[in-house]
This record gives sequence, structure tokens and C-alpha cells, in this order.
Amino acid sequence: MFRVLIILIVFHLQSAAYGIDFNTYPNLKTVENYLAKTAEDYPEITKVASIGNSTLGQKIEYITISKDVNTPNKEAIFISASHHGNEKPSTLAALRLVDYLTKNSEDGNIAALLDRFTIHVLPIVNPDGYLESNRLNALHIDINRDFSYPHRSDQDSFKSIEAALVKNFVDATNLKGAIAIHSGMTGVLWPWAYSEKPTKELETFFNISQNAAKSMGLNLFKQSNLDYPTDGELIDYLYMTQKTLAVTFEISDTHMPHANKLNPILNRSLVGMLTYMFNILDYSQNMPISNNSNMSNIFTINAH
Ligand SMILES: [Zn+2]
Repeated sequence: MFRVLIILIVFHLQSAAYGIDFNTYPNLKTVENYLAKTAEDYPEITKVASIGNSTLGQKIEYITISKDVNTPNKEAIFISASHHGNEKPSTLAALRLVDYLTKNSEDGNIAALLDRFTIHVLPIVNPDGYLESNRLNALHIDINRDFSYPHRSDQDSFKSIEAALVKNFVDATNLKGAIAIHSGMTGVLWPWAYSEKPTKELETFFNISQNAAKSMGLNLFKQSNLDYPTDGELIDYLYMTQKTLAVTFEISDTHMPHANKLNPILNRSLVGMLTYMFNILDYSQNMPISNNSNMSNIFTINAH
């Protein structure tokens, strides 16, 4: 049983290295530069690649973090953000995780995580929407309603190039865990989104989502459909195709809080994502996942 206590020691997130200031919403170029600089600074454990180009031709990049980043066929965890271009806190939360994992890769617990898993972080699924602070892609498609699910075929899905590119990427990746980060409410949601019927992994989903939510001080953790029914979400696609323990993190009550409100949101999200990933690590080692949020290992999250 893995228990983790994450103590958050936060001063404030000052303007960070590489042009990412966690108190400001970054533009596309800033995110691209940050990923490139991170890969340059941590060549052993990171690399940047693209899943392809958006409708309007913007690169959709992701960064891979792992103990030996070139080891093929490792089990993986996929963190995605800004499916919806007006949910920019999600992108910063993803980058905050990159920042933490790279800077603490030698820490025993983080090292164990990076040893076991390859972690892929895709900070902006919808760059065209991001540019306009628009939920939808350039063809007015909601990317996170565009995946196939048990009641809709691939042929009737993937009308957006962005969802199709994510599909190609995840289909080629052995995903044990995934977090789709969103904003507009706060909580942790699990499949199914399309149906109220429970998955076979209901108890596991309940426990990891509860742990993640509680670690963030949030009380909402439930099957996505019971919160609001939707069709075509990434988490349903991943669970349907790979039995990935995929969850949605909703990290902020509003889609785009004022930038000076971001600091506690990003730190809280970081704690939640780490808690989730350590639960996935337990699960992958056939260890039971605690159903309470008592935690015993201590991480100190220093803001730079
Ligand atoms: Zn969203």
C-alpha cells in the first residue's frame, strides 16, 4: 500500500527559468521554447517530439520524461492539457509537472517513478484554440468530444485532426495511466463519461480519484457521467482501447482565473498529479491502492 504525504512548501512561483513564468499565461512560442530548453538541459531524461500539426499548421509538441528516455516499450503515463483552448491553467499545470519531475529526477521516489514509467506530457492539444482562447479547434470541433467510445465508431469520430493525432499517439503507447487536465470546475472524474454504468475497475478508479482529489483538498471525485454526461472524451477512449486508468483533472473553478490566482492552483494540481502517478505505480506493481488519504512519505515542493 503506497501512501504519500505531500507537503507543499510554497513561497511563490517566481518567474521561472526558460521563460516560463507560472504567474502568467504563456503564448505558444514560450511553451515551445520551454520544452526545447528543458530537453537541452536534461538530455538523459527528456526529449521533445511532435504528434503532428493542428488544423492551422501549428506543431503539437509533447515532452517525454523517463529515467533513460530512449528505452523503448516502457509502460507510460500520458498527461494532456488544453484540449480546450480557453482552459490555459491546464497547460501551466502540465508544465509545472515537467518542471518538478526534471528538477527532482534524482529524488528517490521520483526516480522510482521515472524508472518504471515513461511520462509523456502534451501541454497544448489544441494550439489553434489556445491562440484564440477558444474552447474549440479551428473547425469549431470540440476535440474532447471527438474520440470514439463504445457507442460510436472510429469512422464516426475523429473529425478533428487534433483528436486523430492524439489517437495515433496513444494507440502506439502502452498507457497505464493518463490525466486529461481541464479547468472550469474542480474535481477528479473517471470513465465512463458516456454511460452511467460502472467500469470493471470502479473500486480502483474510486480509490485513486479519491486520493488525488483529497490530496488537492477537493471533495468532488466521481464517475464522469454522474457529474455530467458527455460523449467522445479521451478518458473513455483510453479506457475502452487499453483499459488505461485514465482520469480527468478539473483544476480551477473558472476556465481562466486571473493570472495572480494561479499559484495555489498549480501547486495543488502538482500534488494531485504526483499522488495519482504514485497510485498508478502501486497498481502496476500489484499493490493495493489505499482508499484513504493518510500519507507517509514526504515530498517537499519548492517553488524554484
Ligand atoms: Zn475542458
